Amino acid sequence: MSQLVFTPLEEIDKIHAELRTGYESGKLKSIEYRKYQLLQLGYLVKDNSQRIQEALAADLGRPPLESHFLEISSSIGDIKHAYSNVEKWARPEKPAFSLNFTVMRPVIYKEAKGVVLIISPFNYPVWLTIGPVAGAISAGNSVVLKPSELTPATSSLLAELIPKYLDSDLVRVVNGAIPETTKLLSLQWDHIMYTGSGRVGKIVATAAAKYLTPVTLELGGKSPVIIDPDCDLTTAARRILWGKVVNAGQTCVAPDYILVPKSFQDKFVEALKLAHESFYPKSADPSLPANYSRIITPQAFKRIKGLLDNTQGDVVFGGQTDEATKFIAPTVVKDVKADDSLMSEEIFGPLLPIVPVEDVDEAIAFINARDHPLALYVFSQNAHFKEKVFNNTQSGAAIANETVIHPGAEGLPFGGVGPSGYGAHTGKFSFDTFTHLRSSLDSPGWIDRILGFRYPPYTDSKFKA
Ligand code: NAD
Repeated sequence: MSQLVFTPLEEIDKIHAELRTGYESGKLKSIEYRKYQLLQLGYLVKDNSQRIQEALAADLGRPPLESHFLEISSSIGDIKHAYSNVEKWARPEKPAFSLNFTVMRPVIYKEAKGVVLIISPFNYPVWLTIGPVAGAISAGNSVVLKPSELTPATSSLLAELIPKYLDSDLVRVVNGAIPETTKLLSLQWDHIMYTGSGRVGKIVATAAAKYLTPVTLELGGKSPVIIDPDCDLTTAARRILWGKVVNAGQTCVAPDYILVPKSFQDKFVEALKLAHESFYPKSADPSLPANYSRIITPQAFKRIKGLLDNTQGDVVFGGQTDEATKFIAPTVVKDVKADDSLMSEEIFGPLLPIVPVEDVDEAIAFINARDHPLALYVFSQNAHFKEKVFNNTQSGAAIANETVIHPGAEGLPFGGVGPSGYGAHTGKFSFDTFTHLRSSLDSPGWIDRILGFRYPPYTDSKFKA
């Protein structure tokens, strides 16, 4: 396992000050320069895709295809999108015509917020760092990036590559764990974007409040799936199971649990079994390396295994674990009750509980009795069914007949609501997150012939005029 070198605590103030100087140099006011840095960021990922893939395999046991699809291609996609659109996004905007104000030449300038802090989690340690950095650069900010200490190979690689490709007075990596992040959070930033657990999200928001720093919180939670018997069952089972096995379930938008009508549970379980057999024939057994990711840490392994050991539901398939390799097999558990261990917290692992309900009304009530999730999934061929679920619930995203891939969909904001977070990113939404909309007017003197009534003394004749 690679050794992650933590940034000395006493260097953090200096890094912060250097980035402030870099920001104030005004280099990133030039869109051309932003594009140059974005291009460099793109080359960083492209030139080193093999090393990135190896680092992800070392940290997470991640199969190469998953690394390519979910981290490398998506990062390059985000950078290209920002590179191609930054001129358009950064252009000042004029508001719609207004009889009173258009003569004052109103304009909205898109200005950088300044020096921003991006704190990222372990589970997609490339995409969830490179994507936000691309957004922050495209908006003209300088950036400190704090990757996760739980992915030492990937975080070391980022610390090695970023200074080689990007200006060190504009983008820097601080590596470390709680002391280093606490030190970072004691400083004044112009925006903080944090992706991770709600528990730490509260620590970040509290620290930011000291300086009234705006914060984007990309958090997690239990994302439910509602099954309508009137669905394409084979496709539903494949997409749900894939959403749960990719990265061994360590995905913020992974389907956390299933709500299915009691009378349809067994049919749905049979379809999941078939999907499982087709994903993992003997030759591609998930316990063999390179077919399936591993759990990030021994502590996370113990936590997830504990949830499984304590379930009162029936294990349909899976259940195998190996502590030495942090392997937990894709596992489906049926007849799970609301007070089961598997329903007690975000699973963030490859366990899929199925909770039988009477009907869609009970499913909606079940969801509404809990925190608003980051994603809500419905599998149905019936427009009324989908509409009923979406109209009567709240969630970061409302997705029909698909799982997990919507954060990559160009043009859609990615973010939570309530306990699953606030603010959004990807594409233009990342640019907007790191941008201050600066209102401007330039009012000509002759306007006072019309608006001169505003000046005291406030005589009655002015009212009557
Ligand atoms: P985490 O909260 O443990 O860690 C995230 C970051 O916070 C890391 O960089 C870590 O060093 C830092 N951190 C940890 N403890 C801290 C403390 N006490 N003070 C200051 N900083 C601290 O999260 P994780 O385990 O890496 O990620 C899993 C969680 O992230 C899940 O809940 C998942 O749903 C969520 N997540 C959300 C999204 C999203 O886009 N909404 C994406 C990925 C993951």
